[in-house]
Amino acid sequence: MDVTADDGEVWGAETSTGSFGAPSPAGQEDAVVIEEPGAFAPPEDHYQRLWNPHRLVYIGGEGKPSDGSERRCPFCRIPRGDDEQGLVVARGELCYVVLNLYPYNSGHLMVLPYRHVSDYTDLDEAETLELAAMTQAAMRTTRAAYAPAGFNLGINQGEVAGAGIAAHLHQHVVPRWPGDSNFLPVVAQTKSLPELLSDTRRRLADAWPGTGATAASRHT
Ligand SMILES: [Zn+2]
Repeated sequence: MDVTADDGEVWGAETSTGSFGAPSPAGQEDAVVIEEPGAFAPPEDHYQRLWNPHRLVYIGGEGKPSDGSERRCPFCRIPRGDDEQGLVVARGELCYVVLNLYPYNSGHLMVLPYRHVSDYTDLDEAETLELAAMTQAAMRTTRAAYAPAGFNLGINQGEVAGAGIAAHLHQHVVPRWPGDSNFLPVVAQTKSLPELLSDTRRRLADAWPGTGATAASRHT
């Protein structure tokens, strides 16, 4: 016997996955009930919309410096301004941590030197050590605040390797969760980001080890 919904629709064994509609009663696992189509109509359709206009801005190249000079470099400009405006999470002596304005994932951080250098081998010893230490701190802070299952860490060295702003070295720290990759980036050049950047910045700045929010205001 098939289980029948109010509107009379029934799916048979071929399409049954058990993941749609009401659960089948005992002995009826081959039938899946489809909810009434009216239940999916806006404005009360239970789906959340994910608006990602910043990705289109990025794809269009807006905000990208016209040359590699220090004068036009956003990574040199950001630490001279306000932490909230610049999405700065933490400031060290030689390096700082900032949220990526065009994140691959929620909580996508970058660790970078204040100094306008393009190549990893251009860092002096003290900068190298602080970049590494702040990368570790970024991971610890992100784990404490968001409990990701893993991270992608890395430096895209040069435009040919994918660096958006190749003139100023930056190390990516991208938290990962199971299932955070879906079809959207493939078919729509869109990422689903469930939290606003300003909220992420505040949460991470507050969770930063040691001085927390104080660290993020030291150089302002
Ligand atoms: Zn720079």
